Amino acid sequence: MRILVVNCGSSSLKYQLLDMDGERIMARGLMERIGESNGRVFHRTHMASGRIHEVKFETPLTDHRAALRQAVRQLTASDTGAIAGPEEIDAVGHRVVHGGEAFREPTLVDAAVLDAIEKTIPLAPLHNPANLMVINIARELFPQIPQVVVFDTAFHHTLPPHARHYALPWSYYEELGVRRYGFHGVSHQYVSREAARRLGRSPEDANLITAHLGNGASICAIKEGASVNTSMGMTPLQGLVMGTRGGDIDPGVMLYLARCLDMSVDELEDVLQNESGLKGLCGMNDMRDIQKAAESGDASARLALDMFVHRCRHYIGAYAFELGRLDALIFTAGIGENDAVIRAACCEGLASFGLNLDPLKNRTPEDHQGEISSTGSPIKIYVIPTNEGLEIARQTAKVVGSIG
Ligand code: ADP
Repeated sequence: MRILVVNCGSSSLKYQLLDMDGERIMARGLMERIGESNGRVFHRTHMASGRIHEVKFETPLTDHRAALRQAVRQLTASDTGAIAGPEEIDAVGHRVVHGGEAFREPTLVDAAVLDAIEKTIPLAPLHNPANLMVINIARELFPQIPQVVVFDTAFHHTLPPHARHYALPWSYYEELGVRRYGFHGVSHQYVSREAARRLGRSPEDANLITAHLGNGASICAIKEGASVNTSMGMTPLQGLVMGTRGGDIDPGVMLYLARCLDMSVDELEDVLQNESGLKGLCGMNDMRDIQKAAESGDASARLALDMFVHRCRHYIGAYAFELGRLDALIFTAGIGENDAVIRAACCEGLASFGLNLDPLKNRTPEDHQGEISSTGSPIKIYVIPTNEGLEIARQTAKVVGSIG
């Protein structure tokens, strides 16, 4: 079975074509600056011979339709494409950021599903409109191919009521869906399954904390295979200190800013989404630059780093307590997979709680199958590269397989 995975943002579109027989990547690509005259196209075909064919160029990408057409052109290019035509694709798996209350699992797209996704738009106005638009375009371009939606919120539908709700007037939940949903579910699910496999346990028998630390970041508490708490909330603004989002904040600060600076809702949203977090603290949002600046004595970069780590430790500690028994802590995503300094700082001084990081293994996790805890550490610590494309493809294949 061949699955095309599509993951789009408001001005970008990522895709991967996977052959599920052996879970092999056949091709992948990225379209950036959609809507601009100098759109950017990256495409890579993993040829059957083992050779990799790569193209990279600029071209106008007027809209998402043009971007998806460009992706199909690359996938089916006569000498260098992975397939002869779209008829060789068995299903398309779309990542959708917010599934609201309605979606708890991957779902085959039909008119009713599209209506239900439309209703989630107020909950994710920055993400879901582009997701919905691309599903519609893909249905037009590939009318014969089943389309499946995989939601970033779905893995967290198991949050118990006491972790799911805000202490606000109940009618806001009932009438407007104001509650915690959680995000990065595809990633937390993928690395948790992989961690359980490494522990030699079934997912239902593993208690884990997964730390997805990228530009966007969240931590998840997983009890016997199910998400029971996670640091993001109704939107991806809550929780950790992120690249440009500040995470947890006293809501009174927003009221104060609105009053003192006469800021509108849109202006406040821009600050929360794009001007806060690491960037707000030190003007940089790439952890590599921040590490370098902190090493050379930049005090604001040092504070940004310290706050990032402090917030991670806050959630790791809280979730270990909530879980009662913890089998493993997992680091993933851009920072979690690559930044040994952050991982060491997150685990510093926790040996008496059972988290015993091996500093040598932490520097070269790839030489130790990702295990960075010392031999005999009661709680294992792993670095597990996330693979959201594969997880979406697996879930899509399962849905399509179940309809025969
Ligand atoms: P997202 O998918 O949320 O955009 P990623 O998971 O790709 O984010 O992570 C991107 C972040 O990972 C970058 O902003 C950068 O800070 C960090 N990163 C990537 N490589 C390294 C590295 N070698 N060391 C430290 N941080 C890194």
